[in-house]
This record gives sequence, structure tokens and C-alpha cells, in this order.
Amino acid sequence: MRRGSFLSLKRIGAIVIVFTVCLFLTASVVQSKECAGVLRKESLGLRAGTAKIDITPKKSVKMAGYSARTGLSTGVHDPLSARVVAFEWDPISQKDGEMGTQSNGKRLVLVSTDLIGFYNGTAEHLRKVILNEFELEPSELFLSAIHTHAGPSLTIDKKEGHPHNLEYTESLKAKLIEAIRKAFNNMSPVHIGAGIGYSPVGSNRRELRFDSAGNSSIRLGHNPYGPTDKEVLVMKLTKPRSHRDSLRRTPDGADGVVVAALFDYAIHATCLTGKNYIISGDVLGLAEQFVEKILGPDVIAPGFAGASGDINPWLRVLPAFKAEPGWIPEPVLLGTMLGEEVVRVFRDIGEVSAGGEIKTAFVTLELPGKAKNELTIEKDCPPTPLNITAARVGDIAFVGIGCEVLTEIGMSIKAASPYKHTFVITHCNGAAGYLPPKHLYIEGGYEIKSSPFAPQAADIVVKQATAMLYGL
Ligand SMILES: [Zn+2]
Repeated sequence: MRRGSFLSLKRIGAIVIVFTVCLFLTASVVQSKECAGVLRKESLGLRAGTAKIDITPKKSVKMAGYSARTGLSTGVHDPLSARVVAFEWDPISQKDGEMGTQSNGKRLVLVSTDLIGFYNGTAEHLRKVILNEFELEPSELFLSAIHTHAGPSLTIDKKEGHPHNLEYTESLKAKLIEAIRKAFNNMSPVHIGAGIGYSPVGSNRRELRFDSAGNSSIRLGHNPYGPTDKEVLVMKLTKPRSHRDSLRRTPDGADGVVVAALFDYAIHATCLTGKNYIISGDVLGLAEQFVEKILGPDVIAPGFAGASGDINPWLRVLPAFKAEPGWIPEPVLLGTMLGEEVVRVFRDIGEVSAGGEIKTAFVTLELPGKAKNELTIEKDCPPTPLNITAARVGDIAFVGIGCEVLTEIGMSIKAASPYKHTFVITHCNGAAGYLPPKHLYIEGGYEIKSSPFAPQAADIVVKQATAMLYGL
């Protein structure tokens, strides 16, 4: 073969290779654009992912809620969990169904943990880690606890904290990250709906008593006629049925596959007292577990403590799970009663919709502290910061308050809210102490005495929360 023809053949070969590569690349680009288009279309509108992770302490730990209880836990009655629902919303232009330009991927992460609350600086610590890890805005995270008094105390205090509790808190951080990541990774389009029921398991606890001299005082006890928010608010989350799902039996989700039943109820998880050394979610944790048992293994039921600063379980402060033959232990009985109402309401939610946009807001208020002359306290309380978080997913609203809120305040926020369904979530994004309404300062009692806030603080909070809800 002549050298010239060899070169031309080589050149033709090179051209063919380059042409083939170009063709391949062009096809890939077109294909990836198409793929991206398909994915993008699927991701428009409201999506959500869920996750649940076990957070039961592996070792004996110091338990939270009663200062007189000094020993370590001796066993586990029922497991503790963290439950996550992560929402994401991409805007769609109403005009032509194309992507809007005003926002991209607004998110909301609701976290319910079977813990007492995020005391000892742990709210700020854990929030910072989570916000950084997922690049969330402060307003996009509701880190909340059901206020069980039969769970571990959290601590990051290396000097004072028990080593097992330090270790537990560190492992909790990793588990929350893992659960939130899992929720983001299993996002799919969802439909949402909400319903309201009522439960008698919570009772006002500010009891009026008289001593032998006829002097009155307010004690922790029963005040069955006292104000009590008995509302059980339930949110239903379903995802469209896939072919695989349609082959399975899903009795509670005729309109889709049920993925979550969120509920909110105002109750202290304090069936058990400081004499109990067994780990449990108490009434709210047992209600979550009951709902999940009934609705099936693929459904999570995150519970949230409503405004329950002065609300105890009807059967309260018991030393242990009573094991007398035939007796249903009180936390199980009340948790089941509450859980049955959650399921009843849940099954009555006939209408679910594609939801709508997510809006969120967050403020830290500097609330006035109690003055020296109020209720015989020795010195002025300094101003106390309080985190308030507000959000809406479609027309379902959430208000997170970083302290223990007395029941009338929660009822006022719900009454003032422009939304039909407003979850008031306490022990959320902070642990600033008891927030009582102004008129109770005259009566006094435990919640008033231990509150750091001045009497006018509650009105400021209600006004602020309402303004935030209107601004969403
Ligand atoms: Zn409490």
C-alpha cells in the first residue's frame, strides 16, 4: 500500500471515530437533558420523604424530668424513636405549568423525638449541626420532643454530664443526621389532608387546695374543670400508588399509599414519676407506637406535644408499669386511647390534595423576665430568648415554640390562626422553661414559680405567632 493512501485511510478512520464519539456525546447530552426533564417534571409541586430511627439508649443512662431521681435507668419498657418528615416544594408557574423563578426547593423538616426536650444547650447544638449538614434555613427545621419523663437526659457538658449520657447525646446527633438524610433520599410526590378529633386523656393539673387554716394554694394534681385543649389534630400523608403498591393491601390509603400519620395533642408525658427507672415514651410514645402497629410497618406516626405546660395525663405520676394480672398499665391504657382517636380521625380524612407551597418563618424573641417582687422571687430574671418557628405546607400550618407552653396559650394561637388546621408544637427548637398566661400569675403554682418569664410574655408570644402565621 502506498504511504499516501495509508494516511488517507488513517485520516478517514480518525474522522469516523471523531464523528462516532460526537454522535454518541450528542445523543448522551440529549438523553441526559430528557432524563433531567423527566426528573424535573416529577419533582414539581409538593414532595415528602419519611424516616424513623431507633434512639433507645443502649446503656444505662441518667433519666430526665425529676431532679430527685439520681440513679441510672434499669431497663426498657418500650423503644424510643426519632421520626422525620421532610417536605420539599418546587414552584410551578400557574400560567403555563413551567418552572417558576421566585424560589427553588423550599424545604421543611419536622422531627419528633421520644425525649423530654432539648435542655442544657442541646437544642442550639443539635440544630446547628443539622442546619449545616443539610444547608437548611433556621425556619426550615422543627426539632421537637414529646416530653417523656421516662427517657434519657441530654447533655454536652463534659464536666458535669454522665459519660453514658454524653455518649448517648453524641450518638443521637449521628442518628438524627442519618434519619433526616434517609427522609430526603426517599422523597416522592405526596398528597396531604388533615382532621380533628378529641381525647379526654389529658387533664388540667392546677388543683386548688386548702390547708387546715383555710389558706388556698395551687398544687400539681387534678383540675378536671380547668382549661384543657382536648383537640387531637391529625395530618395524613399519602403518595401515589405504584404498580407494585397496587398489588399490596393498603386498607388505609384508598387514594394512595399511606406514608405518615402525624398527630398533635396537649399532654405532659408523665404517667410515670421519678420512682420509675424504666425507659418509655410514656403516653405520647405509646400512642405513636399504637398508631404504627395499626396502620402498618410502612407508616410512621410522629407525635407532637401541644400546649401542655399545665396538662397531665388523667392517670399520672405512677411509680412503675403496674403488672397486676388483668391490669392494663396506665401509660399503655392512655396511650392506646389517644392512639385509637388518632387512627379514627385519620381514617375519617377522606380528602387529600396535592398540597401547595411551603412557607416558613423563624424569630428569636427576647422576652421580659420576671421581676424581683413577683411571687417572692429573690432577684430579677434576665430577659429570656425564645425561638418561634412557623410554617405551612399547603393550607396546614405549624407553630413551633421553644419552651413549655400552658394550654390556654396554644388554644389562643389556634383560635387566632387564619388556617383551619394549626399544629402547635411545643418543646420545639429550644427549652426556655414554662410560659404561663398572664392571668395565672395571681394564682401562682408550680408553673408560675418556675417560669423565667414576666406575666406579659405570653401575650407577646401569641401576637408574634399569629403575625407569623398571617405572614406565611
Ligand atoms: Zn414539663
